[in-house]
Amino acid sequence: MSSASTSVVLDALIGCDRTGRITVWNEAAASLFGYAEAEVLGKPYVVLMPSRFRPAHEQALQTRGMHPPKELLTGRRRWIGQRKDGGEFPFDMSIRWWMVAGGTCLVGSIAAVSDESTPEESSPDVSATHFDTTIAEAMPQLVWLTNAAGQFEYCNRRWYEYVGLTPADLELIGEKGIVPPDERAEWIQEWVQSLATGQPFERECHLRRADGEYRWFLNRSIPLRDARGRVRQWLGTSTDIHEWKLAQTLIAAQRDDLEALVMQRTHELRETVAALQAEAQAHENAQLTAQASERRLQSALDGARDFVWDYDCLTGEVYRSSGWSTMLGYDEAPFDSSIAHWMEIAHPEDQVIAHQAFRDFIAGKTEFHDAEYRLRDASGAWRWIASKGKIVARAADGAPLRAAGTSADITERKIAEAALETAREEAERASRAKSEFLENMSHELRTPLNSIIGFASVLRRNRSQNLGAGELTYLDRIHANGVALLRLIDDVLDAAKIEAGRMEITISTVLLDEMIRDLVAQCEAQARPGVRVIAELPSHPLYLRADALRLRQVLLNQLSNAIKFTETGSITVAVVCSDAREPLRIEVRDTGIGISPERAATIFDSFEQVDSGTARLYGGTGLGLAISRALCEQMGFTLTMSSEQGVGSTFTIGIGRPAAT
Ligand code: ADP
Repeated sequence: MSSASTSVVLDALIGCDRTGRITVWNEAAASLFGYAEAEVLGKPYVVLMPSRFRPAHEQALQTRGMHPPKELLTGRRRWIGQRKDGGEFPFDMSIRWWMVAGGTCLVGSIAAVSDESTPEESSPDVSATHFDTTIAEAMPQLVWLTNAAGQFEYCNRRWYEYVGLTPADLELIGEKGIVPPDERAEWIQEWVQSLATGQPFERECHLRRADGEYRWFLNRSIPLRDARGRVRQWLGTSTDIHEWKLAQTLIAAQRDDLEALVMQRTHELRETVAALQAEAQAHENAQLTAQASERRLQSALDGARDFVWDYDCLTGEVYRSSGWSTMLGYDEAPFDSSIAHWMEIAHPEDQVIAHQAFRDFIAGKTEFHDAEYRLRDASGAWRWIASKGKIVARAADGAPLRAAGTSADITERKIAEAALETAREEAERASRAKSEFLENMSHELRTPLNSIIGFASVLRRNRSQNLGAGELTYLDRIHANGVALLRLIDDVLDAAKIEAGRMEITISTVLLDEMIRDLVAQCEAQARPGVRVIAELPSHPLYLRADALRLRQVLLNQLSNAIKFTETGSITVAVVCSDAREPLRIEVRDTGIGISPERAATIFDSFEQVDSGTARLYGGTGLGLAISRALCEQMGFTLTMSSEQGVGSTFTIGIGRPAAT
């Protein structure tokens, strides 16, 4: 606000040369500024303005001389002048280039001077009279004033200092672009909007400082209106909020960090709570499982009528579960928990052994305790107890601290075992008696039977020629049946010996090929007409360690069976050798009736024949194969069979070991 109350002087003219020195000064100018022409001619024009504006003008003069921007030459603009008496006053001035003697000169034409006493008349920009530059200069903010069209008319010193411009640059602000390029478009849009509507302008944005740094500012601008309410000017302030903004950004970042931290902590807390809940659940489950398992164990112990014991190796104290008193029928009360009372009721025969076994166990000599002993129950009877235990805790040096285990009443089992042993002994004794009887009987039967066969043979010779054909036939039958009976008795005798474990064999070196040739020759005549009996032998002699008599018996049994069950075809006795010419197996093959798979499994059992019809049709006792297999096994051989019904059978004696010659 001007403090002047100067009258209006129209058409004051002030001209300057290119160095800024006053060359034109008329009456009106003298009257306006209080200087006579002589006083100002040749002086720099800055003497006509307050000293605070001078440095910027002087600097501008130095850099580019009197070359005001184009905008200054196009219209009337507001200036602040200083009269000779020091008083300041605003005035409107339009600037033009004039041709004067000596060249061009810049002439300012002052058409009107503002006067606060007559605002309406002195100037159309009456609102400007309300704007006090003194206050503006004292304000800490950047203060600026524009005309109604938004063009800068005034900026305070702080503003110039901040942006690094001079008053002469005022018109260049738009070009200099103190608002960053990326914020400029929005700034202009809002500013134009305010200019168009007259609404106050407010915007936070960066403004470039003289050193090039962009700082945050809160920019506000309000319209200054004339008496008729028309906007004449815009008064703006730019408040440096850079530190506040940075603090705000920092706070926002810290808040974001804090929120992230809180979320993370919340998440961790949730996870911890979930883990704790899971752990608690697992613990509860484990407890339930343990309780269930304890109940099951107790039920099992109750069911088994066992009891559990737990022995403290250091104090000698024993804990026993309730099954202890139930098992023996004692009340718990009279018993202490020591081993001593156990000795009192232990059977005298078991005391030492069982106690020693337990002492060895708790001394760590044995890992497990396993003992059976008798204890006297409440009724005075002896009960068998089986105790099993384990060392369950040890000291650092390995010495046993605690032992635990179970004890079961095995009296019934012991009684059953004893009964079984008695029965077995009885059976063995009976079996021995039966075998002895059979042996004796066989001997008793053989003696008269040999006589019968012998005498029948003698009579069959018919030396006296006094026997007729019919009588000779009877003698043949007596002889044949006698031989069959003798074989039966021999078989029964062998079976009895085998069963009684009294069959004795004598191993010697046997010339196998010779034995087989001999047997084949002996049996050929017994084969049905047309059935060939063949020996398949290698050309070299075959030796075998065996009981010659019993091996012959086995081979004869197989050959006899083959002959008996073969109507057509052939019977072969073959020896299969390894490369070393050692016999590996002897096979007796026939092309007879064969054996069904169902029956093949049982033919090696005693008294087994394929069916009762076989016995009637072919005779035999069903003992031959059982005896043969037992004899083979005693000689270290095997006897196996393969057969196909209607095709034939093969009986194999597996030697499986080299012969010693
Ligand atoms: P058996 O003295 O009755 O012949 P074995 O023990 O020697 O007694 O034979 C038992 C049964 O095995 C015979 O009754 C017969 O049914 C059957 N068997 C043995 N060898 C043969 C064979 N080579 N062919 C067909 N069946 C046979």
